[in-house]
Amino acid sequence: MAEQGGHPTYLWWNGERRRWEDATVHVTELGWSTVGAVFEGIRAYWDDRTEELHVFRLREHLERLARSMKMVRLDLHYPVDELSETILDLLRANEVREDTYIRPLAYSADTSGKRFAQLGHQAALLINTSPMPSHLLSGTTQTAKVSSWRRVSDETMPPRIKNLSNYRNGQLAGMEARLDGYDTAFLINAGGTVAEAPGACVMLVRDGRLITPDVTSSILESITRDALMVLAREVLGLEVVERQVDRTELYLADEVFTCGTAAEITPIVGVDKYDVGSGEIGPVTRELEQVFHDVLRGREERYAGWRTPVGVTAAAAV
Ligand SMILES: *Cc1c(COP(=O)(O)O)cnc(C)c1O
Repeated sequence: MAEQGGHPTYLWWNGERRRWEDATVHVTELGWSTVGAVFEGIRAYWDDRTEELHVFRLREHLERLARSMKMVRLDLHYPVDELSETILDLLRANEVREDTYIRPLAYSADTSGKRFAQLGHQAALLINTSPMPSHLLSGTTQTAKVSSWRRVSDETMPPRIKNLSNYRNGQLAGMEARLDGYDTAFLINAGGTVAEAPGACVMLVRDGRLITPDVTSSILESITRDALMVLAREVLGLEVVERQVDRTELYLADEVFTCGTAAEITPIVGVDKYDVGSGEIGPVTRELEQVFHDVLRGREERYAGWRTPVGVTAAAAV
């Protein structure tokens, strides 16, 4: 069954597929258990033409999970290939036929009351799925404010991995922006240049070039950012530049957008009350959204290697 009472039938927890209702922890586990957690955010896209669900860059996401776990000293007890099969099985078991978010979460079990991570703690691993419709090509736009909060720096927290605690930084910036009447924020790093938005990387277009902060600008090593750089170069024929980006470049850019698994491509039409370009979605952003959409839904053969077909329809027919 796909949905019952607003949640999928199954999730996967510590080596077993379980019914949603049966996967519970004691209330005293709330708190420290997820301070040291790392996670992944993966999307699967449904294509109604072929009745197929495609997971985007599954292996790269799981390899990044392994790197995040290494960084925070949590042991991953499952090979990447096995986890990939686990995720495909879960999507088939839940009979998913819509755009979906897949979230593996690794944390240390049995930490209740222990403020400081004990080495050698057993790593627990949860994988759950939830519906997440795409907003690509919908015309959705955002305005942004350069936050007064700085992006966590590599000297204090590891910005390049999906460390759950880093999210407090993005939340504070996002809340400040919304209270001030903007949709999202841009965080400047400790070096004074542009890092990223809460949970999404930043790209700008100026004079026909695509520019994005480099991986030592305190950004997360984003898989979407990587994919869009490839598509911009190979499909749109743009020059792509990774370098430090100044705050004022955001104000003078022809186009700005954020990108990430959740953000997909989100056009930014104003920054600190400066219109970005004409204040509307720009042509490069539009074109990139179209190409990215076609890749994600399985309508562009060139990047088929980035997609894992789930076989939901075939599984249901058996
Ligand atoms: C996940 C994430 C991103 C986007 O990375 P993707 O791999 O493209 O999903 C950007 N910034 C932060 C802080 C993130 O956690």
